[in-house]
Amino acid sequence: MGMLAELTHRCPLSCPYCSNPLELERAAGELTTEEWLWTIDEAADLGVLQIHFSGGEPTVRRDLERLIARARERDVYSNLITAGVLLDRRRIDALAAAGLEHVQLSLQDSRSASADAIGGYRGGHEKKLAVAGMVRAAGLPLTINAVVHRQNLHRLEELIDLSVALGAERLEVAHVQYYGWAYANRAALMPTRDQLDRATDTVEAARDRLKGILGIDYVVPDYYARRPKACMGGWGRRFVNVTPVGKVLPCHAAESITDMTFEAVRERPLAAIWEDGPAFERFRGTGWMAEPCRSCDRREVDFGGCRCQAFALTGDAAATDPACSLSPRHGHMVALAKSESGADRRDFVYRSMSRREHFGRGSSAVLRPPADGSGSPEK
Ligand code: SF4
Ligand code: SF4
Repeated sequence: MGMLAELTHRCPLSCPYCSNPLELERAAGELTTEEWLWTIDEAADLGVLQIHFSGGEPTVRRDLERLIARARERDVYSNLITAGVLLDRRRIDALAAAGLEHVQLSLQDSRSASADAIGGYRGGHEKKLAVAGMVRAAGLPLTINAVVHRQNLHRLEELIDLSVALGAERLEVAHVQYYGWAYANRAALMPTRDQLDRATDTVEAARDRLKGILGIDYVVPDYYARRPKACMGGWGRRFVNVTPVGKVLPCHAAESITDMTFEAVRERPLAAIWEDGPAFERFRGTGWMAEPCRSCDRREVDFGGCRCQAFALTGDAAATDPACSLSPRHGHMVALAKSESGADRRDFVYRSMSRREHFGRGSSAVLRPPADGSGSPEK
């Protein structure tokens, strides 16, 4: 089992595809150090073998070293998922000394102007490049996480080359998942079919060329798929997510399903929530399925796809994921991909602590896509 520990929703970046919920949790409500320490203990007792410390930006928590040290004491593998911009060599060494075993660093693009515009953080890209070097110098394995979409997919080859130059062992080419902030930004982010086909060719060629140097994870995005992915390896099967305020979710986007409620580690032990919590029971296994999933021979392969995507596109979280060509709504999804990818939209709704800040946010830290068009697919 794996656990995503979302230590905070605070983050200096404002990515328009952020997977955090639209209503972000404030620092005052976050679990305390003691609460996270016993949550890590409960996770280890439950059988969790790896904890991904994430956020928001997990390094804003000054107690991160203590939490990693506790994971190490309990023989749980620890991975840090970070935007990197708050790290320096001293902190990286301290995290490594505490027992950190792996770092996953996000890149918004291969070039500074565009990367900083997408992340809404001036100077962020250069800082990330420096941090990648520090991570490797500290002897930690590095994975680059590159979130790709219409405004950067044409630079995938550069992202691959950059990952090699930074000494990464793995590159995750992560197509945007369209819920939460990304759903609000679909028209500015959805890649075209042509872009996707070229990206797939680029990855296949790079995998051959870079065998033994760089492993590349790549999955065709749902909006262009014929069959859905087994989201989370199946709801409530081997993944648990704990939010900054301690809510326990079967998937990091589950709060986008607005007709569900989630128990918290402050209310019940993690194991009890996992075993029989209503949120975990609701879509666990195959008993909840309706047709066409119920009688489909792939129902224990993909578990009907993503519940959050089904809810976002149909209003019914129990519906077959429209990414599946057997879903009655698949045609709608195909049409949506076509219209959104052809939209003449490049401006973003940036992630912000308050949904009201979406429009006309005046912070000087927020950049717009470069006016020279270097963020457009043609360049
Ligand atoms: S996606 Fe961007 S804004 Fe969201 S947590 Fe990661 S770095 Fe921060
Ligand atoms: S019908 Fe359901 S189980 Fe069958 S492939 Fe589609 S999503 Fe998967």
